[in-house]
Amino acid sequence: MFNLILFGPPGSGKGTQSEKLIARYGLKHLSTGDLLRSEINANTPLGIEARKFMDKGQLVPDEVVIGMISSALDENKNIPGFLFDGFPRTPAQAEALDKLLDFKKAPVSVMLALEVSEEELVKRLIIRGETSGRSDDTNEMVIRARIAEYHNKTAAVADYYRQFNKVVMIQGEGTVTEIFNRLAEEIDRRMATQVQ
Ligand code: ADP
Repeated sequence: MFNLILFGPPGSGKGTQSEKLIARYGLKHLSTGDLLRSEINANTPLGIEARKFMDKGQLVPDEVVIGMISSALDENKNIPGFLFDGFPRTPAQAEALDKLLDFKKAPVSVMLALEVSEEELVKRLIIRGETSGRSDDTNEMVIRARIAEYHNKTAAVADYYRQFNKVVMIQGEGTVTEIFNRLAEEIDRRMATQVQ
């Protein structure tokens, strides 16, 4: 299995690139943001709880997202691998993911981390808010809070995977195609050398 973590701050292009990557590689896309938004739309107790945090730009508690990912891993058998998007977002989530993947004997293959400047992030998120219908993209205070959460809690996840030499930084500015090609080049190289 090839298990990829696409990492980066809010607005770094994880969603856009994930769509293209799953089309090319056939990986199963697991976006905790998308999973949480479907819980909200279905008005489930989990969604109602998660929304309180998401509306403020705060991370949803670890146990909620870890439970969601655990079920998603169980539901998807016989696939070439997973693409994790927006997860793990804390070192505790990273440790939980490693344990879950241990059971499948299919560790994280690589973390590709998109690098984008802060001004560019805010600009992209405000533009996305005009069409995405996402309430957390329309308020600049909430956008800034999400970026602060990224620095305070999520950036450390890259350090976690760095200790296993699994992190590759990818320049996340340029055209969508240019960035996709940078990601694909790294994936192709690693897929070719991965011991199955
Ligand atoms: P973005 O990357 O633009 O912030 P996402 O769709 O990944 O968008 O996430 C939206 C919101 O969902 C986050 O601000 C956070 O509140 C919540 N969320 C998503 N994934 C996680 C996670 N792994 N842990 C905690 N909260 C999460």
